Parts: sequence; structure tokens; C-alpha cells
Amino acid sequence: MSRVYNFSAGPSIFPESVLQQAQQELLEWRDSGMSVMEMSHRGKHFSIIAEELESDLRSLMAVPENYKALFLQGGASAQFSLIPQNILNGKAKACYLNTGAWSEKAIKDAKNYCDVVVSASSEDTRFTSIPDASTWLLDDQAAYLHYTSNETIHGVEFQTTPNAHGLPLIADMSSNILSRKIDVSQYGLIYAGTQKNMGPAGVTVVIVRDDLIGYADKTTPSVFDYAEQAKNQSMLNTPATYNWYLVGLVLKWVKAQGGVEAIEQLNIAKAAKLYQAIDQSVLYSNPVDVPCRSRMNVPFILADESLDKPFIVSAEANGLFELKGHRSVGGMRASIYNAMPESGVLALIDFMAEFERTH
Ligand code: PMP
Repeated sequence: MSRVYNFSAGPSIFPESVLQQAQQELLEWRDSGMSVMEMSHRGKHFSIIAEELESDLRSLMAVPENYKALFLQGGASAQFSLIPQNILNGKAKACYLNTGAWSEKAIKDAKNYCDVVVSASSEDTRFTSIPDASTWLLDDQAAYLHYTSNETIHGVEFQTTPNAHGLPLIADMSSNILSRKIDVSQYGLIYAGTQKNMGPAGVTVVIVRDDLIGYADKTTPSVFDYAEQAKNQSMLNTPATYNWYLVGLVLKWVKAQGGVEAIEQLNIAKAAKLYQAIDQSVLYSNPVDVPCRSRMNVPFILADESLDKPFIVSAEANGLFELKGHRSVGGMRASIYNAMPESGVLALIDFMAEFERTH
């Protein structure tokens, strides 16, 4: 067996020790006599897994008491509709920052439920920047302000929490949750698919302030009503039990690394090295404004497009996989989530230098 460095944008690289633990526990979890996959979600063993999952997430992110942490299905994409359904509470408008492909998708779905005020857009820069906050048009009649804290495709990341000027702030943190310290109390709602920094695909984490829930539109399916799920510990129906378990293992791994603050320092160092290598080269370039470059997803283009294919082929020959950029933007993209060791980033940098030297 030879495992490669996997730079996929998601589903993505796992900490190897977590895979090994899951392998060890596959047939029997602790002394339960059964696999987690076989457990009733209402049974005593799974209850322990569920409780640890929630308490580990709460402690890692310092989630205040007046917030619920939900573990839902449907992916982050389902939230694009569920947020307006749950949070509009009779209001006719919501504000959105448009900083890339994922913001655009959230906006498109929200339009089925309300008037969308696009408070700012970086479309004119082909999503390589974040408009200055002084230019944002925030409507005080809106139900909330939504933004995408890290645009996975364009490699654009907010380095600070936006000021929503009193509106509940809603963040799609799918691709940077747990990668940097944030103050949850500044948010009304945070959501993220788990398949990048938290585990396998199939679970969507929603962290939501108590006062915002309980007002879902009556057309909202019960399993997607945050208040209903909160009352039922996210078990209104059968949850994705094995995926909860795997997410729980990843959270314990994050704790063992020293928590989010320690991981953030590693992420800063990994990203800085990769951007430096790109900026110093002649062959590679990254189009994103330096202050909003993502620490998680690093897109880069080769000066000569005809080298794209050879680049991918020889990267794979060197054990570096999934570097092709998203089909909508082309070029390359290295996703360097929490589980990507520094050695993977250094191997990529060495390979890029060697490829440049020989081409
Ligand atoms: N938002 C962001 C920022 C993403 O990167 C993705 C997935 N790549 C999604 C939403 C959609 O997630 P899902 O596929 O879980 O619906």
C-alpha cells in the first residue's frame, strides 16, 4: 500500500491516524460487541458517540450556551434553501455578499424565498478579491447577512469576521471551519459540510443562535426545521450514524493537535510557504488579492496552458494527486486542509520547482 498526498478540495485528505483508528474499531467499538454501523442511534453506545461529538465540537469552537449545534444531512447545498426557510421569519429580504461560485449558488436558491440584496460583489474581478466593507449596501430591513467565509473554487478567504451592522451574520464555513479561531458569538448561524476539515461527506454542521430558531416557514420539512432538530438532538430521524462517529474521531484528532489555535498556526505556515513558492516562480501565478488569499485552497495557473496536462501527469508520478483546478476556473488548485501535513506541502513545492526547472 502506498498512500499519496491528496490535494482534493473535498471529499479530501483524512488524518491517517483517524483512518487507522476507524479500521481498528470497525468490527467492534469499545466493548459494545458491534460495529458503530450496526448500532441503534437510540442505543446507549451510540448515545456516547453523539454526546462526545457535540461536546467536542462545542469545546473546540467555544460555542456559547445560547447556541445549538446540529448535525444534519443534505450537504451544505441544502442549507442554501433551509436558511431562508428557517431564518426569514416573515421578512421579505436578505443580504448576501457575492464573492464566488458558492456565494452565487446560495444567492440563487435564496431567491426562491425572498428578495436578495446583493450587498457587494467581486464578480467584476472574476472573484479574485473581496469588496471593501465600506462599500457594502446593508439593508436594515433584511433578515440576515450571508457570506461564504472561504470560496473553495476561487481561493478567496475572509481574514476577519465581517461587520453585519446589527443583522444576524450567517456564514458558509464549509471549507475553512476549524482551520482558524473564530468568535462564534459574532454569528447568528454557521454551517459547513463535513467533507473538508471535519470528516467524510454526509453530515452538515449547523451552529445557530437560539433566538433565531422556532420560526420556520410552515412548508419546511420537519427534518430540516432547526428547532425541531434541536429539540430532538438532531435525531428527529435516523442520523448518518457512522459519519457522526468519523466526524467525532476527526474532532478528537484536532484536539490532540492542540486545538484550533495550534492548527491555525500550522495552516498559516503551510499556506505562506506555498504562496511564497508561487510568487517567486516565473511559471506559476495566483490571481487572488494578497490580503484575501485562502489558507485552505490555493489555486494557481501555469504561464503556458499546454503544460497543464504534463504537470498533472508528473505530479501524480510523484505521489501528488487531485491538483487539477475546478472546471469553471481551470489551472491548478492545491487544497491544504488541516489534515494535509506540512510534508505534503513541501513535497508539492519541491515538485513545482523541479517541474519549472525542467520545462
Ligand atoms: N459551500 C462551499 C464553500 C463548498 O466548498 C461546498 C462544496 N465544495 C458547498 C458549499 C456545497 O457542499 P455540499 O456538496 O456538501 O452540498
